[in-house]
Amino acid sequence: MSKEFIKNQLRELKENGFDWKKRILQTASKPHARFDGKDLLLMCSNNYLGLTNHPKLKEASIKAVEKYGAGSGSVRVISGTMDLHVELEEKLAKFKGTQSSLIFQTGFAANAGSIPQLAGEGDLIISDELNHGSIIDGVRLSKAERKVYTHKNMEELERVLKESKGKFKNILIATDGVFSMDGDIAPLDEIAELAHRYDAMTYVDDAHGDGVLGKNGKGIIDHFHVHGKIDIEMGTFSKAFGVVGGYVAADQEICEFLWNKARTFLLSGSHPPAVVAACIAALEVIEEEPELVKTLWSNTKYYKKELQSLGFDIGVSETPITPLMIGDSVKAQQFSKELYKAGILALPIVFPMVAKDKARIRTIVTAAHSKEDLDFALSAFEKAGKKLEII
Ligand SMILES: *Cc1c(COP(=O)(O)O)cnc(C)c1O
Repeated sequence: MSKEFIKNQLRELKENGFDWKKRILQTASKPHARFDGKDLLLMCSNNYLGLTNHPKLKEASIKAVEKYGAGSGSVRVISGTMDLHVELEEKLAKFKGTQSSLIFQTGFAANAGSIPQLAGEGDLIISDELNHGSIIDGVRLSKAERKVYTHKNMEELERVLKESKGKFKNILIATDGVFSMDGDIAPLDEIAELAHRYDAMTYVDDAHGDGVLGKNGKGIIDHFHVHGKIDIEMGTFSKAFGVVGGYVAADQEICEFLWNKARTFLLSGSHPPAVVAACIAALEVIEEEPELVKTLWSNTKYYKKELQSLGFDIGVSETPITPLMIGDSVKAQQFSKELYKAGILALPIVFPMVAKDKARIRTIVTAAHSKEDLDFALSAFEKAGKKLEII
């Protein structure tokens, strides 16, 4: 690849408006934040419970730095497993209701490192077409064969399972729990049932379910009451938990196997103490302050109801991820610009991240938004929506 080629590709991205601008956050990540010197209402963070700036998480980080220093000094399997890492894994397993858990550097690393080990040569991975890019990359890194089914189409999944029976050593079904662009939920109860019937393993990515779905934010397994029926749960500390880090929660043997095999885990330094301590504190805060999840949902319900009564199309969303479906890419970009002028940060998601005619503004409600914040956003959406003839 010559430099000329890169230059041309980059120019093309920019000409089409598909390049990502650099927006510089100059405050903590919270609903009222400052980007590039401008005060904005933040409507596009994954900080579902407002934990990024919670005093208990900050305090835990500071204490951990004082006791353990800034870094861990190694990968986990050599000399980088601190008592803090073990404490986090035990707490997380308890929270998820699994035998064990394993912390990865990020959710991306958890998917990219685990999936290739859980299914290899002679196996088959069956994946929802709208799965997250990190699942897709995990599947690409695997030597297993792959089949993709139409989004949430259980008849198609069953057909693939039926025709694959006896042709592979093992079959792994991988799905997002909550789909990150549309905010809809995978029919995990039906997937578990099909997997049981056709003797397949199941892998669910709960990145947008933790802290959101289930009793007190325990995630999608709890939401569907399918405890013990999903083999591998994967998730992240970068969304509702407000920090950074990925995990796999599963039976002890699966976690121990990945400890030995997952390359993104094995070959990469472990989290610094400040991160691990903040993750532990996040799990404690969720237990101690159940009102956070309740507020998240009452905000979500209010926000969605008002958007719909204004005439916005919010697609198939069932969670705080709320897309305002626009359709046309240029219009979605114009809409986002109008919102910015009105003091709101809400970004357009356009092709190639979603289909060409499915451009949208993806907004995410959090527990940290006040009713005034939501009303402010709604009135700006109304004004811009009318101006651009979206509603
Ligand atoms: C964000 C996300 C990830 C990646 O998690 P990180 O910890 O931020 O790397 C994986 N899967 C899904 C579905 C996500 O939305």
